[in-house]
Parts: sequence; C-alpha cells; structure tokens
Amino acid sequence: NDEQFKNVISHAKEYGFVFQSSEIYDGLSAVYDYGQLGAELKNNIKTYWWKAMVQMHENIVGIDSAIFMHPKVWKASGHVDGFNDPMIDNKDSKKRYRADQLLENKIDELYAELANFSAENKAKFESFQQEILGLSDEGQAAWIPSFKDENGILDNAKYPFVDEASWRFVKKGLALEVEMNLALKSENLAQLKDLIVDYKVICPISKTSNWTDVRQFNLMFSTQFGAMAEGSDEVYLRPETAQGIFVNFLNVQKSGRMKIPFGIAQIGKAFRNEVIARQFIMRMREFEQMEMQFFVRPGEDKKWFEYWKEARLKWHKALGTKPEKYRYHDHVKLAHYANAATDIEFEFPFGFKEVEGIHSRTDFDLTQHQEYSGKKMQYFDNDLNEEGKPYGNYVPYVIETSIGLDRMFLLTMINAFEEQDLSTEDKQDSRTLLRLHPALAPYKVAVFPLTKKDGLPEKAREIMEELKFDFNCIYEEKDAIGKRYRRQDAVGTPFCITVDHQSLEDNTVTIRHRDSMEQQRVAIADLGDIVGKAVSW
Ligand code: ATP
Repeated sequence: NDEQFKNVISHAKEYGFVFQSSEIYDGLSAVYDYGQLGAELKNNIKTYWWKAMVQMHENIVGIDSAIFMHPKVWKASGHVDGFNDPMIDNKDSKKRYRADQLLENKIDELYAELANFSAENKAKFESFQQEILGLSDEGQAAWIPSFKDENGILDNAKYPFVDEASWRFVKKGLALEVEMNLALKSENLAQLKDLIVDYKVICPISKTSNWTDVRQFNLMFSTQFGAMAEGSDEVYLRPETAQGIFVNFLNVQKSGRMKIPFGIAQIGKAFRNEVIARQFIMRMREFEQMEMQFFVRPGEDKKWFEYWKEARLKWHKALGTKPEKYRYHDHVKLAHYANAATDIEFEFPFGFKEVEGIHSRTDFDLTQHQEYSGKKMQYFDNDLNEEGKPYGNYVPYVIETSIGLDRMFLLTMINAFEEQDLSTEDKQDSRTLLRLHPALAPYKVAVFPLTKKDGLPEKAREIMEELKFDFNCIYEEKDAIGKRYRRQDAVGTPFCITVDHQSLEDNTVTIRHRDSMEQQRVAIADLGDIVGKAVSW
C-alpha cells in the first residue's frame, strides 16, 4: 500500500497533476501547486460538486465570499479562543508534535464524573488509585505494560497512533492525576478515543526532561491589514469557508427570497497552520473546501442531518467508487457547536480517513454572530405549523456538509490509478491507467493523425476545432500511435480519436475506449454525441 501511494504521488508529478510549491527552493512544507492536468481535474471535481449541490437543488444557491473577514467573525465562531492544537516540542530532536488535549479533557471529565459513580465503581476506582500510588515510578510504568517497556520505548505495534509518550502519576487530594505529554499521529484520534474508553482513567502520559511543556497553538494564520501601526488590525486567513456563509445568511435569504429549508454553498480556500502536515495533499496548510450550510427549522435538524448524511455518500458513490471503500464514522464526542456529526471516510492506502464531515451545527453560529454583531440573524417563517399558527421568527438550525477538495482529489487519483498487466504468452506488456470517471477526466478526447503527412494532420485539426467548443481536447502527432494511446491512458483520457487515410475518403475515424481499449469505426459527425453522452453528469 505504501508502494501504491508512492506511485500515485510520483505519477501525479510526472504527468503534471501536482507539484510541490516552490520546488526549486526545496518546497514549502504542506503546500502544493496543481499543474496543468491537476487544475483540470480539480475544476471537474468542483463542477461535479457544484452541479450536484446547487444546480440540482432549487433551494440551494452558491456564493463566493472573501478569504479575509472581520476579526470579530473568528471571535464569534470560537476560532480565536478554541481553534487550537496542543503542541509539544522535543528538545532533542527539535521536532514539534501535536499532543492532544483530548486525554486531559477526558481525565477532567472523569474526575468530575467520579462524584456520580456508583458505590461499586467508586470502590474500584479507589482501589485502582491505591494500587498505582503504591508503586514506584518504574513500577507504574511497568503497570501499563502495553504502552512503554522498562526502557521507555513505546509499543508502537499496539498503539501505532502514538508517536511518543511518557507519563508521571501525581497524587492530588483524593484523586490520582496523570501528568502527561503525548505526541500523537494526528490522523488517528478516533483510535485514541476508543482507547480512552478502554482504559477509563488510565491515561499514561507524562513528561521527560526532553520535552517542552504543552503549549496551545492556534491553527489560524494571521496577517496585518493595511499599513497599520504595530499590533492593530490583525486579520486572519479563514480556516474554513463556512463563516462566510453564516455572515451572509440574511443577505442571501433576502436578496434571493429564499424560504427555509434552503442552503448556501461555497467553494474556496481555507488555511490552517497544521502542526503535523503529512501524507501529500491529505493535510495541507493551504487547501480548498466545498461547503454547504443548510438552514432548517429548529426541531427539523435531525431529519435533515440524516438526509444529508445519505445524500452525500450517494454523491461519492455515483463516481463509480467501490462502495466498500467508504464508511461513516459517527462522532461520539461532539464539537461544542454540534448536536450530531459524522465523517464520510474513504479507505486510503494508509487506512480509513475522513474526506467529508456532516455536522448538525444547531443555531450556534448564527446566535454567536447575532451576539457579537448586534444584528438580528433571524428568519421570519410565515408557514403554518400543526396548530395552524405561523412559525414566526427564529434563528435557524444548520446542517453542514464540508468536503476537502484536495482530499477528494487525492481519493480520486488513488481510486483511479491502476497498473495493468497486459502480458500475453509471447510478450510482456503493461500500462498505467487512470480510470477516472469521464466527467472528471482532464481531457475528454485526444485527437491523433495516424501520420504527420498526406493531409491527416489537417483533417485531425478540423475535428479538434469542432469538438473543442464542447470538450477539453488534446492534439498529438508525435510518436507511434500505441505510445500516444498509453500516454492518454496514463492521464485518464476516456477517448482517443485517430484519423487515417480512410477518414479522408469517408469521413469516419477510429475511436478508442480507454478502459476496454476497444476501437470502433464511427462517423466524424457522430463524435460529439458519443463523447457527450459518456462525459455528461
Ligand atoms: P481533520 O480531523 O482531518 O483535521 P477536520 O475534522 O478538522 O479534519 P473539518 O474542519 O471538518 O476537518 O473540515 C472539513 C473537511 O476539510 C475535512 O473533511 C477535510 O476533507 C478537509 N480538511 C480539513 N483540514 C484539511 C487540511 N489541513 N488539508 C486538506 N484538507 C483538509
């Protein structure tokens, strides 16, 4: 799987899909550029999403809000105070890690819960405390056998999500506290949550002399607005596109005369100063999101959450991906603004990972903006309820669907990439294929003259001139025809059209299908229809 992932990354570079940003200067960490074919594929994914969300839903409209927003937006949304990753530096290796607050929170919670424990569980817990506190430091370490051996080495086979960890037990009144420093592989929080449940309060982390303290690290990038004096007018690069939708909720509702339930969609860049950024375009510092906020009546949020949960998975599967590659991951522990949340996960070569989040965000965001801006964020609903009375004024509830465009891009590349063995008894042969859905393919059609003479290039050009109004086409006359086919297979072009001498006589060409490699003789006049049908949405 590692090998496959590496192959996809080098393929993406070799064929002009993705380049490292500022590569000639050795790159900028977790920032990438999309090349000539990557830009096409990315645009096609955007279009597929936009059409499915905006064009196909009469009650969803799309906007394009600015990346810069008033600094108060991020106060209201909770990002200034809460959009943090706990961070820890290893002084020896000079590496920075994302420790996790989650464990600490969980311990706090459990201590708070202690008051409500049944007598039996309280007794169990207290005997556990006694048992641990009676042990020496080494004994404590040994007591939690699966985390660390006596040399302080982590058992990574068992806990592959922990990069480095250490712990120390401290007596605090009645309770046992665990002072912890934990460096996690940030992608694996779900596993960690499971572990916490398993271990109840036994969170085995402490600090060794080589670690700095855990510090909160805000993930937002900030910059200075205008030529202002020091310290004033700090603005942020938005860490999500959603807030641009919330602050425009009433503008869109009023100008578009939208009736609840309705949605506002947006595609745009977001920026997060991720502490650990890795796995190619999986976790970037500059990335793009495709988000839709769906405004509903209070009380109808759960229904719509279920609706969007299903609708979004359907969208993914409609691209022809194997259904078993996808799964839901329902959140148990919810963000402060949510009353339900699920991730749509895809099985990447490095495991099941989130591609899209569906969140029931309650009225949190609009209420916060109402409070911070002093402007009413209410909707007047004059439909009649069951008692025959108008619903009246309320702050709508919101269901959010939020998908990372770059992760979707990576998913698409991984899913499409195939090294196909075409060997026969006499001859070894293979080809690299991008089995992209034709609607997503960067080029829909490649047009080839069989040879560079006898008027074939001119005829091929003629066809190209005709088709290019409707489809992104590429013209190629260099190299043998077989080689040209292979090149197009490798970038996912669903159709290759070859012009030969017969074409000059009867206005027919061969059309070759990427996946089956079958060739058909068809009339030039029919090409538009054949291609059009295959690449339509
Ligand atoms: P993660 O847990 O992976 O950090 P998240 O839960 O913070 O993601 P959301 O805030 O829900 O993600 O953002 C919605 C979507 O945006 C994610 O499902 C993901 O596809 C994408 N996304 C988030 N952070 C990044 C990133 N750093 N690089 C690329 N895509 C991202």
